Amino acid sequence: FNAIVSESSSMQTSTLAALDRSHLIHPVASFREHEELGPIILKSGRGAYLTDHHDKELLDAFSGLWCVNTGYGQESVVRAATEQMQRLPYATGYFHFASEPAILLAKKLVDISPASLQHVYFTLGGSDAVDAAIRYITHYHNSIGKPAKKHFISLQRGYHGSSSVGAGLTALPNFHFNFDLPLPTQHYIPSPYPYRSELPDDAAIIAASVHALRDKVAELGSDQVAAFFCEPVQGSGGVIVPPRGWLKAMQQACNELDVLFVVDEVITGFGRTGPMFACLDEDVQPDLMTMAKGLTAGYAPMGAVMMSDRVYRGIADGAPLATVVGHGQTYSAHPVSAAVALEVLRLYEEGGLLENGRAMEPHFAAGLRALLSHPLVGDARSRGLLGALELVADKGSKARFAPELKLHDRIFQAAYKHGLVFRAFGDNILGFAPALCFTQADFELMFARLKALLDEVLEQPEVRQAL
Ligand code: PMP
Repeated sequence: FNAIVSESSSMQTSTLAALDRSHLIHPVASFREHEELGPIILKSGRGAYLTDHHDKELLDAFSGLWCVNTGYGQESVVRAATEQMQRLPYATGYFHFASEPAILLAKKLVDISPASLQHVYFTLGGSDAVDAAIRYITHYHNSIGKPAKKHFISLQRGYHGSSSVGAGLTALPNFHFNFDLPLPTQHYIPSPYPYRSELPDDAAIIAASVHALRDKVAELGSDQVAAFFCEPVQGSGGVIVPPRGWLKAMQQACNELDVLFVVDEVITGFGRTGPMFACLDEDVQPDLMTMAKGLTAGYAPMGAVMMSDRVYRGIADGAPLATVVGHGQTYSAHPVSAAVALEVLRLYEEGGLLENGRAMEPHFAAGLRALLSHPLVGDARSRGLLGALELVADKGSKARFAPELKLHDRIFQAAYKHGLVFRAFGDNILGFAPALCFTQADFELMFARLKALLDEVLEQPEVRQAL
């Protein structure tokens, strides 16, 4: 891999790489492995394309980290940020201060989100949006006189960020290992995973999830369960697309069980699955909803948690007047991020990006499905512009490749060589999240490169043997 990266290595790049290895801690990485491999330093981006420090062009089929939904180089977003920085770079939300973009953004989010959601708290990203949701939920139940409701349920393979408590709702082993998680109050039910389900059809998969939730709540006691968290499509767990109707069924079950229903739209929000939020597809009305990523399309850090009037009022009225709700951050509702978000939202709507994303969906879905005939590909799935290929050693038994083969590393290296960026998960799932600005030509190039790199990996003797 280093050989590929250092082919056209310049002095400056190698100096930077050495500094990176010595000082920069990377998210969700093996520290030791990173010391060996070093970074791939990115220099610039335009539309769907990135340029790295060796002037290699890469087609980004992952929108950075499922966030740059507008594509790179949107001048109007840069102008919005610049103007806000010049006018007022910072305004605290403490002591009842506010800024115009923050207020307008809160109102805008209320307008475009499910009708159940009326109030917004802004964070810096998704993990702290989940963390804020957990804290507000705890406060709410204590406020309304249900202090025993302390248990949280989420899905196996769910991802809800890496805050010290939220990482326990994330049901992925790396986020628990050596972090003393999950907490005794954190529980999981099986993921609605059609490709790996033995159930006969979608209705049975939905019924099984509802059943598992009811069983878990019965086991813990409904008076002990605070909330159920889920993603409409599971992202970091391997782009697992539940059957249509699943989200609505889970909402109904939560309502009946007196359990708050929290939808984490950090990935699925802002056109990623077609509508502005995946919830809107099935008329789902969550009690709380978290978001980040596409909110600012990665141009500035920002996330949010929205809540229903019922939850808000429970907190507001549950304590004597003027009792402070002690949750806050210096950069909550940062005016520059809010100005960026307002312009990004304008691009989705008036700029036609949502519409383009929806128009491109058939090309994306068909391109993935066409690869089902490839010897390595067992499953192709997508919703909107969020999709995955699952590679298997045996299509009949759906057996995974042995971990020692390190197929994801082989794929990642081949992808870099072929100039394509996507996510190669450890369990042989390839995740894709192209920007909403992708054209048909971008998709043709993406799938040509993808096919070429899969063919190349297939020709490696160790991979051939494993089939
Ligand atoms: N929730 C979900 C569903 C996510 O996908 C992510 C990020 N991938 C997060 C929460 C955490 O967001 P962040 O990385 O911005 O903290």
